[in-house]
Amino acid sequence: MELLKARILRDGVVKGTDVLKVDSFLNHQMDVALFEEIGKEFQHRFEGCGVNKILTIEASGIGIACVTAQFFSCSVVFAKKSQTKNIARAVYSTRVESFTHGRVYDVIVSRQFLGPQDRVLIIDDFLANGAALEGLLDLVQQAGAVLVGAGIVIEKAFQPGGDRIRAQGVRVESLARVKAMSEAHGVEFAD
Ligand code: 5GP
Repeated sequence: MELLKARILRDGVVKGTDVLKVDSFLNHQMDVALFEEIGKEFQHRFEGCGVNKILTIEASGIGIACVTAQFFSCSVVFAKKSQTKNIARAVYSTRVESFTHGRVYDVIVSRQFLGPQDRVLIIDDFLANGAALEGLLDLVQQAGAVLVGAGIVIEKAFQPGGDRIRAQGVRVESLARVKAMSEAHGVEFAD
């Protein structure tokens, strides 16, 4: 998506070897007009797939997921990071290792809001090592829901998550795929 790539080149900041900061338009301040274009692009890519639910993970996926859901006329469910042990019967639960914080979280979704009647599109801001996406895939499987695919805003294609999850047969659509990045040379896209 050229608009998104141009914005990353203009406003993205590379930290170290593997963190791309996009706080000015995606992760802290949010450019809702850009989100709308992102939502349209996801709708275009997953049109006709019968999506009736969008699943994301708190916190940074929620804004994108909500704007995207308007184009599918469906609800958004976000997996909550949980500190407490949950009653196994009320929720689906899985463990996710956070890329940015280096911690392991339990994430949960209430059984009330995800089930076999759902055709799920997963939306997230970044795909890096794939832990967040694999956690969401696990929740979809536990719910007996149908997975339509995953829509990712920025995939860091030099990290292993995307390849591994596509190899499982999951349709992953990324709007910007970063091939390489460095503080000295900035961001280079894969396609
Ligand atoms: P993964 O689980 O695929 O390793 O990482 C995905 C999650 O980590 C995303 O939901 C995102 O919040 C965060 N993340 C991973 N890499 C980056 C990055 O380079 N920049 C930012 N801002 N967040 C990232």
